[in-house]
Amino acid sequence: MLWAGQNKHWGNIEEGTQFWLELGINHVMVKDYQDTPLITREGELQLDTFEKLSKLQEKYKVKYHFHPCNLVAKKTYLTPAIKEAQPILKGFLKDLDTIISDHGFYPLITLHLPFITHQRYKIDIDEKSALELSVDFYQDLDLKSRLALETMHDPYKNKKKPNNNLLGYKPEHFTKIIGEKNTQKKNIGLCIDTGHHNMTETPTQDFLELPYPIYSVHLNGNNWEEDEHALPNYLSVRDFKATIKAIKKCEGPIVLEIKRNNYSKNQIKECLDYWKNLASYEA
Ligand SMILES: [Zn+2]
Repeated sequence: MLWAGQNKHWGNIEEGTQFWLELGINHVMVKDYQDTPLITREGELQLDTFEKLSKLQEKYKVKYHFHPCNLVAKKTYLTPAIKEAQPILKGFLKDLDTIISDHGFYPLITLHLPFITHQRYKIDIDEKSALELSVDFYQDLDLKSRLALETMHDPYKNKKKPNNNLLGYKPEHFTKIIGEKNTQKKNIGLCIDTGHHNMTETPTQDFLELPYPIYSVHLNGNNWEEDEHALPNYLSVRDFKATIKAIKKCEGPIVLEIKRNNYSKNQIKECLDYWKNLASYEA
C-alpha cells in the first residue's frame, strides 16, 4: 500500500516533504498552494513549480503526484462545464501529462468534477448540461497518466460552503463520464474522499461497486457538517468499513489529506499506524 501526505497547510513544500519523510512517507500529493502554483492565470502550466518539484524529488528520493483540484485558473473560471474553457483545459492536462513523464513524477492526476454552483465565480449551471459537457470532455481525453476523479459531498451539505457544489456526489455521474462496459475510458478511475462521504446520502459502498479502479483515496475526517480535513478515526469517518475496503482496493496513493492544525507529529504517526493496521488485518 502506498501511503502519502499532502503539501497543503504545510507552508513550504520542502518542509512538508521533510515532515512526511520523518514519518516514513516518501510520497506527497501536491495541490495548487502558496509556493506550488500549478496553473497560471491563463490556464497554462506554472513551469517553475514543476522544475522546483523535480529537483526536490531527486534530492529527497520522494515521489510527487498532482491534484490541481478544480482546474481553476485565477483569471477566469475554467471548467469542462464551460465549453470555451475545454480547449484550454485540455492543453493544460496534456502539458501536465508530458511533464509528468519527462520528470518522472508519479503518473496520476486527481481532479474534482466541475462545479454546478459557486458563489464567488457566480456559477449556476444545471446539473444535466454540466454532466453532458463533462462527458464530452473526459471521453475525448487521451493521457498517459492515470486520472482519478474524486467523489464529492451532496449539494448544500457542506454547511460552511453551502453554495459551492460540484458533480461527483452520485455514482451515476461517474458511470456517465467514465462510461459503461464498451465505452469505458481506460486510465480513468476514482478517488474516494472519506471526508466528502460524511456529507452524502449515498453510502461509500455504492461507489465501490462501480466497475472502476480506485486510483487514490483521500483519507480524512470531519464533524459530518463541513470539510474540516481532520484526523480520520472511528468517529470522524462515517462509512468506516467501506473506507477500509477502499484502502485495500486502492491501486495508488492513500493520502492522509489532513490540515496541519495543531496535531503533533506523534498524533499523526499514531493515526497512520492505526489505519495501516486496520488495512492489514480486517477481513
Ligand atoms: Zn480530497
